[in-house]
Amino acid sequence: MTMLTQINVFQIVKRGLRPSLRTLSSVPHVQAADRKLSGMCFELSPEQKEIQQLARKFTREEIIPVAAEYDRTMKFPWEILKKAWSLGLINVHIPKHCGGMGLGSMEGCLIAEELSYGCTGMTSAINGTGLGATPVILAGTKEQQKKFLGRLVEEPLVTAYCVTEPGMGSDVNAVKTRAEKKGDEYIINGEKMWITGGGVANWYFLLARTNPDPKCPANKAFTAFVIERDTPGVKPGRKEINMGQRCSDTRGIKFEDVRVPKENVLLGEGAGFKIAMGAFDKTRPGVASGATGLAQRALDEATKYALERKTFGVPIAHHQAVAFMLADMAMNIETARLAWRMSAWQTDNGIRNTYMASIAKAHAADMANKCVSDAVQIFGGAGFNSEYPVEKLMRDAKIYQIYEGTSQIQRLIISRHVTDKAKQKA
Ligand SMILES: Cc1cc2nc3c(=O)[nH]c(=O)nc-3n(C[C@H](O)[C@H](O)[C@H](O)COP(=O)(O)OP(=O)(O)OC[C@H]3O[C@@H](n4cnc5c(N)ncnc54)[C@H](O)[C@@H]3O)c2cc1C
Repeated sequence: MTMLTQINVFQIVKRGLRPSLRTLSSVPHVQAADRKLSGMCFELSPEQKEIQQLARKFTREEIIPVAAEYDRTMKFPWEILKKAWSLGLINVHIPKHCGGMGLGSMEGCLIAEELSYGCTGMTSAINGTGLGATPVILAGTKEQQKKFLGRLVEEPLVTAYCVTEPGMGSDVNAVKTRAEKKGDEYIINGEKMWITGGGVANWYFLLARTNPDPKCPANKAFTAFVIERDTPGVKPGRKEINMGQRCSDTRGIKFEDVRVPKENVLLGEGAGFKIAMGAFDKTRPGVASGATGLAQRALDEATKYALERKTFGVPIAHHQAVAFMLADMAMNIETARLAWRMSAWQTDNGIRNTYMASIAKAHAADMANKCVSDAVQIFGGAGFNSEYPVEKLMRDAKIYQIYEGTSQIQRLIISRHVTDKAKQKA
């Protein structure tokens, strides 16, 4: 594996990665302009470009050649994950005091878009661990962060985010898993479902109800815990066989009389709902960038095929109906990229991004599904066959409209924002 001798993300950052706001002042035309950021800049910093190139090279050399094989066997991509870890392409947000790089959402998203071009099953395996770690980044004490995040820097380990249950997904207020305080411990009983990394994680972020009163408001009823995988009573189920992203590990997990020390509570009893939901502001831009990477792959494959495949004496790209499908794909991809970048930029600069993150996630998920469907159409019969690349893309794309909040739930968030704003104006 020759490429691991090349510069990695740690070295790029050590040499100097400017926070995205200050990046603007390194761009010549902005230097001359007002530095109060009254204008726009769509330029990535030199370091961000380098990180993007590194992730792109890794995808071309390491992911694309083995993606179909991992899809077929559904094997968890440990080898890829370890190589990505050694290049610093995983867990980029872990704070510096834990040995991490403390990078922003923008850098994580740039990496996710590139990796997703190769295989979104692998991106989910890699970013699933980021979802598990985000609540600890947001709400953990320094000690909790050192203990649980520090080990992710020392070793290529995986974490998981356990909120969904067999009886609930969108309606987080319906979480039934119970945590009862007994002395210095909590006893946890319940079942989680569809947990990414559920069978391979070293520790879990878990949301449980601590207030049994059904009338207790969500922002007081739930508590967030970190649970070590090897705690007695933690029982991951079988690996689920999914439509797409098949190398990612998805499982149900039973928690039976699991004893968790009170030191593993994040922020305090009752704060769980806010932590679990707050994590999505950080992670949804990354999901959106992943869907964008997948859609870009669909466009590139479809364009190449449309220039090679001839009907009625000309390449099918010369038929306007086909060319316009390519144009629609490009329009959707470019706008999705702008949206995830804006939502990442907002959160990196301390601007609340819930609205923009939902727009980015819903738009990218929906447009990726349209793009892969059109790509299959452009491939004709070959698009329906697993020997050609777009069939996998179509299976892989669907989950973007479901996990981390369905496309309907994103629309609920967006529409609430729109109506609240209108009411404020009235
Ligand atoms: C591969 C995979 C990986 C996953 N990884 C994780 C993970 O790591 N951690 C985790 O906690 N969860 C995970 N999930 C769970 C995922 O987040 C949920 O499946 C998702 O939130 C939807 O919940 P649900 O399946 O219960 O569907 P439901 O909530 O039952 O929804 C069913 C349908 O009804 C719609 N709907 C529901 N409520 C409304 C409403 N108010 N208005 C309009 N429409 C509505 C939904 O949009 C959906 O179309 C994963 C799921 C999958 C399939």
